[in-house]
Amino acid sequence: MYDAEVPVGSFWEDEAPPLAEGVDLGPLANEMKCDVAVIGGGYTGLSAAYHLARDFGVDVCVLEAGPLGWGASGRNGGFCTLPPMGLSYGQLISRYGMDEARRFIASQVEAVDLVAGMARDNDIDIQPQGQGTLHVAHAPGRFAGLKEEAEFLGGKFGLSVSLLSREEMAETHYDSTEQFGALLNRTGFGLQPLRFARGLAAAAARAGARLYGRSEVLRWERTGDGHRLITAGGSLRAKRIIVATNGFTRPLADAKLGNRLIPVLSNIIVTRSMNIHELMAQNWRTDYPCSNTRNLLFYYRMLPDHRFLFGARGDLTGRPEDGAKMRSVMERRLGEVFPHWKDIQTTHYWRGFVCMNARLTPAIGQMPDDETVYFGLAYHGDGVSAAPWSGWTLARLIGGRISVRDLPAPFRGLPPRIPLPSLRRWYLRAALGLYHLQDKQ
Ligand SMILES: Cc1cc2nc3c(=O)[nH]c(=O)nc-3n(C[C@H](O)[C@H](O)[C@H](O)COP(=O)(O)OP(=O)(O)OC[C@H]3O[C@@H](n4cnc5c(N)ncnc54)[C@H](O)[C@@H]3O)c2cc1C
Repeated sequence: MYDAEVPVGSFWEDEAPPLAEGVDLGPLANEMKCDVAVIGGGYTGLSAAYHLARDFGVDVCVLEAGPLGWGASGRNGGFCTLPPMGLSYGQLISRYGMDEARRFIASQVEAVDLVAGMARDNDIDIQPQGQGTLHVAHAPGRFAGLKEEAEFLGGKFGLSVSLLSREEMAETHYDSTEQFGALLNRTGFGLQPLRFARGLAAAAARAGARLYGRSEVLRWERTGDGHRLITAGGSLRAKRIIVATNGFTRPLADAKLGNRLIPVLSNIIVTRSMNIHELMAQNWRTDYPCSNTRNLLFYYRMLPDHRFLFGARGDLTGRPEDGAKMRSVMERRLGEVFPHWKDIQTTHYWRGFVCMNARLTPAIGQMPDDETVYFGLAYHGDGVSAAPWSGWTLARLIGGRISVRDLPAPFRGLPPRIPLPSLRRWYLRAALGLYHLQDKQ
């Protein structure tokens, strides 16, 4: 899963135009210098580089192990939505208080707008779809939970939401064996994630950032006046570092960060294009991205050319044979949830890491023992808007426009260390088992 030479195999790679000429400067060679070095060329790193170069005139370089956007940013489901956390809204409020919870949610509404704005300002054709997202009750008993969610999002956080009954959903959006009404949240939309990553890279390069793909940082040394990052082909000296490696964090940063992060695999299948009769068999009429109320959630959307994208978490090993099993489980489940599509051929399967932590909220800030090292990570599977916002926030921190104290409380500070990190896979196994049980209820 960490080998950038292994093809991702996503549908997005087939669809997206290639990165514009000259944006990726290729593997780092020789001894180079800059003010800020970013490790990781996904949304967090690219947005940080774009904003640092454009808004603060900072000399910034990005080092990315694969091609730019190779990590989660180029292969996600394209749900640009909120919130990037593993807490319930009730837990968020009781842990941080109503004011900080409101600031946190407001920041992520801003994050969705930021993505739309960056695409517009930089002429990135992200293929936006839908004017909101649907959270769908997968069982009759789950509609009550959606009412509660509507109360939090609409009543307490001021978002525009509405509830749709099973019948209304079937008439206006779609029908399925696991459709028992939905919550429509008008903040959010769908996009083509690799187009966004490549467009953001081009915008960062135009603003003056230097971007080096296929430049994995293999060693990190502290020098008298800063840092030295060593790749296979060269090295980069910098006064400040941003760690933007999220779920693909390698052992390099492990001592300080890796033991605080939980990478979790998310998987996607995409079908062939369907014709109008096939769509109507499920009464499919919507381009809104959907996710359901399972703890081990399914997320799905109809793409512009009528291919169906269906995603699920699962598999703990990342081995190819377990990927093959996961694909066939997902094909079977797609056919159970959408029985009229049970024989529709899938053309793509791929997967990648989302990133969680034990605190269940993202982490943005500076290392307590070295304030020249910044990090932005752990969006809990909701980073399409949260990661670009995190990169923008890191740029504003470095540019001196804000300080860590100004951030909503859920972002602040390093997440806690995971006890016995070597047992991480077993913790996940236990959590998966529990979620399976809860989803059967
Ligand atoms: C299958 C899947 C589906 C998803 N669906 C959604 C969705 O629909 N909506 C949503 O909001 N979120 C989704 N996510 C999560 C979202 O994609 C991420 O939260 C977001 O892209 C994180 O961006 P990032 O830049 O922080 O990390 P990434 O995009 O993962 O980038 C980190 C980069 O760091 C690089 N790196 C790591 N170590 C080094 C090193 N030593 N040297 C150089 N480079 C290094 C990696 O190669 C990688 O490219 C999904 C993720 C996956 C995997």
